[in-house]
Amino acid sequence: MPTCQNCPNQFKLSEPEQRLLSKLMVPPPTFCPDCRIQRKLLWRNERTLYASQCAMCQKNMVMMYPPNTSHTIYC
Ligand SMILES: [Zn+2]
Ligand SMILES: [Zn+2]
Repeated sequence: MPTCQNCPNQFKLSEPEQRLLSKLMVPPPTFCPDCRIQRKLLWRNERTLYASQCAMCQKNMVMMYPPNTSHTIYC
């Protein structure tokens, strides 16, 4: 049974999970399901949102690109 790299939890992959992994040729995860969920949430929180204005109607909006990006942003 693999041990999580992030906590002492041991976890087991279900049969369908194992089959899916080998089908996709993906290495088995090294984090237990709990830590995988936490990492996903963390990753989401780390994304910064920027206040900006729509290039068309000047409406204030929130977007994922910094204001100095070359993207033209519309609401
Ligand atoms: Zn863990
Ligand atoms: Zn607009």
